Amino acid sequence: MSASAKAVSAADWRADFPALHQSVHGQPLVYLDSAASAQQPAAVIDAVSRYQREDHANVHRGVHTLSHRATEAYEGARDKIRNFINAGSRAEIVLTSGTTEAINLVAQSFCRPRLQAGDKILITHLEHHANIVPWQLVCEQTGAELVVAPINDKGEVELSALLDLIDDKVFLIGIAHVANALGTVCPIEKVIEHARQRGIPVLVDGAQGVPHLNVDVQALGCDFYAFSGHKMFGPTGTGVLYGREELLESMPPWQGGGDMILEVSFDETIYNELPYKFEAGTPNISGVVGLGAAIDYLQAIGMANIASYEQDLHDYMVAELKKVDGIRLIGEARHKASAQSFLLDDIHSHDLGTILDQQGVAIRTGHHCAMPLMQYFGISGTSRASLAFYNNRDDVDRLIAALGKAKAIFG
Ligand code: PMP
Repeated sequence: MSASAKAVSAADWRADFPALHQSVHGQPLVYLDSAASAQQPAAVIDAVSRYQREDHANVHRGVHTLSHRATEAYEGARDKIRNFINAGSRAEIVLTSGTTEAINLVAQSFCRPRLQAGDKILITHLEHHANIVPWQLVCEQTGAELVVAPINDKGEVELSALLDLIDDKVFLIGIAHVANALGTVCPIEKVIEHARQRGIPVLVDGAQGVPHLNVDVQALGCDFYAFSGHKMFGPTGTGVLYGREELLESMPPWQGGGDMILEVSFDETIYNELPYKFEAGTPNISGVVGLGAAIDYLQAIGMANIASYEQDLHDYMVAELKKVDGIRLIGEARHKASAQSFLLDDIHSHDLGTILDQQGVAIRTGHHCAMPLMQYFGISGTSRASLAFYNNRDDVDRLIAALGKAKAIFG
């Protein structure tokens, strides 16, 4: 893509997001918090609204027209998700409320029945709490041990140290595709390759991967890949657990209730086939319809176009931040996507975030649900600006100007 073509498309993309076209505290909004939750294009909002107005009914069990339409829309979204991440079959797409639920499902259904005292779950030091605490819980329940692979001062996973930690006691490896607090792109391909050689399953926390990078679960060869709808321009309360069919097949249901059964009597219950075995109760139908629309939208732009546009913008943001007097960048990995954390002078990040908000600039402040990572850097939190393809250089310039004003205020 030429530079001018890029500029035209970025302006078009931005126009698709109604929430971006408003003022906050009298200033045009600059939204730099997509890593927490991305804005939704009109196509998603309209798809949810149309579903609610015209097609809403419960899925799967109804014989009437609206139930058929709802089922078609819901299951159609599952097909879109399968295609989007190139899973081998729709049976491998378990719909969840988000990444958190997807990881807990694997911890409780895959690990808990098999883990023994002395076994290990291996994660890294830069994980989100959602990829730490579910493993701590299952370790407590089983007597297994949580082992943490180190990172370096740039915020990169120390790959060789991680590989050295892999031994016969490692039962599963959990690793982020992209670290939410730092934007580090982790070397998941290498980790998966080594783990596969030793027959160790790998779960990738893809919450920050799917919105920014092209993800092909078959090419990656991972066993589980978890992600959230609201970080990929879809509704909240939606998410996906991709699992290799063979593994999902071998796992017991996690929650019991309607829809996950074929037959129930007081003597015996026969569970439903995949993926329904893991989807107890009425799901978030409208949310999943919206997630399907988000995928249509992303595919129309193309993940490769998104990744290259964002890389360029990320590099610009980092270069501009580096010019700010008193800035300390947290997270300077060689491979990054979307997010940059920083500290400015000794201004508390919450104060900085509040002053930026007064200028219409929305960033995230605090520990980013990655407290062990903050402990590594010896800080309580950071300010984090995270980009999506609807951002542009003007947004970055506004961020930099707002930081200048914060410096002036704090003297
Ligand atoms: N993992 C990562 C890397 C994340 O960024 C997040 C959300 N901040 C999660 C897991 C949890 O996602 P959710 O709250 O949507 O379940």
